[in-house]
Amino acid sequence: MKPIFFAIFSFLILSCNGNAQDSKTQKIYPVSKTEAEWKAELSPAAYHVLREKGTERAFSSRLNRIEEPGIFVCAACGNELYKTQHKFESGTGWPSFDRPINEANVDYRPDRTGGFPATEVVCAQCGGHLGHVFNDGPKKTTGKRHCINGVAMDFVPYSQ
Ligand SMILES: [Zn+2]
Repeated sequence: MKPIFFAIFSFLILSCNGNAQDSKTQKIYPVSKTEAEWKAELSPAAYHVLREKGTERAFSSRLNRIEEPGIFVCAACGNELYKTQHKFESGTGWPSFDRPINEANVDYRPDRTGGFPATEVVCAQCGGHLGHVFNDGPKKTTGKRHCINGVAMDFVPYSQ
């Protein structure tokens, strides 16, 4: 009897966790598509970061070097995320900003997948993974460091 009880108990626990996770990941964003649709639209590298929470190789993004004024938009849905004027050289190899263009344009989620507590930054419009935010940013401004994957964004210069 005992092993059976344990099995049923475990099943219930796992089901509860599964449901809790589902309701979290299934938050409905204004821009919602199936994984197959995202896969068809995005480059494999962008899909890996935005939809599978991947991390691009450090120093691999051309957006690292951008200094001209403009706006960094979500590569998946075009949502405006960051401005060049809030970009700073963090030395990490990923585009870094001290704040988003507007706090309402990004969403924050607790993330423990790296083995330490971190805060994930996602696009508030499509839920795409962008990167993480840390508290070691420029002290003179916000103290925040938004460490964002370049492949998750496109750059739109003001002059365009
Ligand atoms: Zn987006």
